[in-house]
Amino acid sequence: MAAKATQAAKTMAGKAVKTAQAAKAAQAARSASRARASGPADYDAIVVGGGHNGLVAAAYLARSGARTLVLEARPKTGGAATTEAPWPDAPEFRVTRLSYVMSLLPPTIINDLQLERHGYKIYPMGPYYQAFPEGGSIKLYADDAKRNHDEISRWSKKDADAMPRWDAWLAGLADVLGPLLLTVPPNLGSRKPRDLNETLRLAWRHRGLGVRTIADVTRLMTMSIADLLDDWFESPQVKGALAVNGVIGTWAGPYEPGTAYVMAHHSIGDVGDGHLGNWGFQEGGMGAVADAIAQAARLAGAEIRTGARVGRVLQQDGRAAGVELENGQQITAKVVVTSLHPRTAFLDHVGRANLPDDFVTDIEHWKTRSGVVKINLALSELPDFTADPGTNLQEHHTGSVEMAPTMPYIEQAFQDARNGIPAVRPFSDGVIPTAFDKTLCPEGYHIMSLFTQWVPSDWSEAPHTEELQAYAHRMIDCYNEVAPNFKSSILHADIVGPYQMEHEYGLVGGNIFHGELSLEQLFHMRPAPGFADYRTPVPGLYYASSATHAGGGVCGIPGMQAARAAIADRRATARRAGRHRLHRP
Ligand SMILES: Cc1cc2nc3c(=O)[nH]c(=O)nc-3n(C[C@H](O)[C@H](O)[C@H](O)COP(=O)(O)OP(=O)(O)OC[C@H]3O[C@@H](n4cnc5c(N)ncnc54)[C@H](O)[C@@H]3O)c2cc1C
Repeated sequence: MAAKATQAAKTMAGKAVKTAQAAKAAQAARSASRARASGPADYDAIVVGGGHNGLVAAAYLARSGARTLVLEARPKTGGAATTEAPWPDAPEFRVTRLSYVMSLLPPTIINDLQLERHGYKIYPMGPYYQAFPEGGSIKLYADDAKRNHDEISRWSKKDADAMPRWDAWLAGLADVLGPLLLTVPPNLGSRKPRDLNETLRLAWRHRGLGVRTIADVTRLMTMSIADLLDDWFESPQVKGALAVNGVIGTWAGPYEPGTAYVMAHHSIGDVGDGHLGNWGFQEGGMGAVADAIAQAARLAGAEIRTGARVGRVLQQDGRAAGVELENGQQITAKVVVTSLHPRTAFLDHVGRANLPDDFVTDIEHWKTRSGVVKINLALSELPDFTADPGTNLQEHHTGSVEMAPTMPYIEQAFQDARNGIPAVRPFSDGVIPTAFDKTLCPEGYHIMSLFTQWVPSDWSEAPHTEELQAYAHRMIDCYNEVAPNFKSSILHADIVGPYQMEHEYGLVGGNIFHGELSLEQLFHMRPAPGFADYRTPVPGLYYASSATHAGGGVCGIPGMQAARAAIADRRATARRAGRHRLHRP
């Protein structure tokens, strides 16, 4: 006991010395940074985080002529858009480990960065498919009204007739909301002439909307997906199918207000600069999207360093002046673009003392839960559904292979998690990318990706390894009820819960979008009122994460907009400096 106490005292003394040394080193580093930042900067721009948004920002910055450096903490780029081989004894199986399908990447980015030349290749997804535990199944097609009518008629003739009207209604709303994704949110409430001007411009652009459209947008923004669907459809099977998009990545069941908008966010097909594809699979998994963007950035001249974890943002005279890596190395630049979760980017890297109090409070209050668990499976054969038999590749294997039979089923999964237990019967948005993509595993085998919800939101605080395994088994059992070969076909399983998402990928709270898509966190509120234009309270520091407007999702818009803001400011500064030089006697 005494020996232990002596040892503890020694350890404490050692720690105190180390703390004092660390404080001294930090002080020295700060002085050094002040000195270094007053000389020529190492780079024109530093991008913190090599997720797809950071890479998009880097590509645009480099294309504008800025000497650009990307610093990524992990050994590889991509962030949540990543393809990995999670089973060391089976490296021939690769999974798209977190995000799994593409839709929202605008044609502007694809064309500007020539992504198709660098490997961006999308296979459009097949139909939405649900096999029901009580028997039967439903398929819904993105673009085939006739077949939708036939499928839905099996469950409700009334719903089959309502479907074309629903599709048209949604398309009309998407026409309004889509272009807003590429709009820089105005600073609502500000009386500065520039902000007032932007607000008026936005209002003017929407002057033709009319009373009905405004009412429909209001409904979409405020209603639950359950109430909205109840207004349109009667069959539980059809409503279950349409409800999934309302709760993807959301800490809210289908009866929560605001989930109707989440559905729209996932259903928008056109952001105003060209029609987007339907949801699709990237060849090589989502990591290949990030690789294509990284290649575009490199070709434009950007340098990308992996294994480089940033510890803080350097500042000089109230402006961003570069970054300090966790190993103490300092790198200077007049422009810093950060693409990290807002808590990390601002509270950790900039520091509360360097930020306005209101902004600090807003970021502290930022909601970042979701209770998502990603389950990646290697399969020896395709699921053989009782309702649609056969392990040969069929159309129903090629799209979403869901486990979300009805809205009450989805709601119960959420209520379990809200009450502090993992869902007894989780819901899943499943896909089998290898129905098209032959690059992920050997011929004859398949990869299946299950995006599942919910576990309690505080599971981001501890690994919960065994409980996650039990949860995954229950999820697999649910599929096994409708496809009895499922369980026995599983060769390998990889389970990624909220704790791993936070600690390995930087997704604080396990939220897949760096922050919930709840109404109070959208548009001019994302990530905080007054700072939704991709600028931050620190001049020279720009914000490009999915926690800005148009995020989340693998859409690249935050990266592009943050780079545009930085480039515009850089040019304005250069113009001012030019004028200043001209006017100097
Ligand atoms: C399970 C899951 C499923 C999803 N499914 C889809 C989907 O199917 N389709 C879709 O469109 N979207 C999906 N999403 C959302 C989408 O993946 C994210 O919104 C998007 O990838 C986030 O991109 P980002 O560049 O903003 O951030 P991130 O991808 O999080 O990138 C941030 C990067 O910063 C790095 N980093 C963190 N800390 C530091 C540091 N201190 N120093 C340096 N680097 C650091 C991280 O390692 C990471 O690479 C999903 C997300 C998850 C988690």
